Amino acid sequence: MRPILIAGNWKMHKTQAQAREFLREFGTALQSSSQDSVPLTRTVSERQVILCVPYTDLAVVVEQTQGSGIAVGAQNLHWEDQGAFTGEISGPMLVELGVRYVIVGHSERRQYFGESDETVNQRLAAAQRHGLIPILCVGESKHQRDQGLTESWILEQLDRGLAGIDLEHLVIAYEPIWAIGTGETCAAQEANRVIGLIRQHVGQAHLSILYGGSVKASNIDEIMAQPQIDGVLVGGASLEPKEFARIANYQA
Ligand code: PEP
Repeated sequence: MRPILIAGNWKMHKTQAQAREFLREFGTALQSSSQDSVPLTRTVSERQVILCVPYTDLAVVVEQTQGSGIAVGAQNLHWEDQGAFTGEISGPMLVELGVRYVIVGHSERRQYFGESDETVNQRLAAAQRHGLIPILCVGESKHQRDQGLTESWILEQLDRGLAGIDLEHLVIAYEPIWAIGTGETCAAQEANRVIGLIRQHVGQAHLSILYGGSVKASNIDEIMAQPQIDGVLVGGASLEPKEFARIANYQA
């Protein structure tokens, strides 16, 4: 059985006060949107909920989710443990805060901050060196899809990003760039096909592979009904507690 992961990516949203408010409402919404009215801890222990929040929210979210079963993730990390890298955050800093997951290679990092497969690879190695589980994001642009380059592009990203990386302690998220924040979801069957291809290429039967790109309460059930899809990475819809709770409590 591959673990089911429901991860939210808050991107650059929410102050500490807003994070506290979210968590209060999310706890209640998780229980009321659960079909079985199971307590928070049970709901999330069967499906690992992860909140990937801005650095400034990490300590608050770790503290406020203690004992709830919710795991906390960061949205990036530097490959060195310390040094003259102004504005960067390292693995040991995240570990000390109680962070367990970290997103690496999100398309926004690649597009706006010049991340390459080489630096993605270094960040993945740094995360694993410190016992963090990296969530590696891969995905094609609209142009690449239109040119029929989806498969070759993703396999290239995987080969370069994963060189020398431990495939046991890793999560991959397939996030077609054209579906991120656009409201345009990749058809569930198509996401399933690409994720199957990723699984076959990586050759790791137990690897959890997520789908990301305009996931909402209205499409989660169909997405999670796909046999290759082990969870979701959710941007916009993870900012709203009721919406994200409904996603976490998708109906299998
Ligand atoms: C993301 O940020 O990884 C993402 C998938 O965003 P959205 O759900 O808003 O498309």
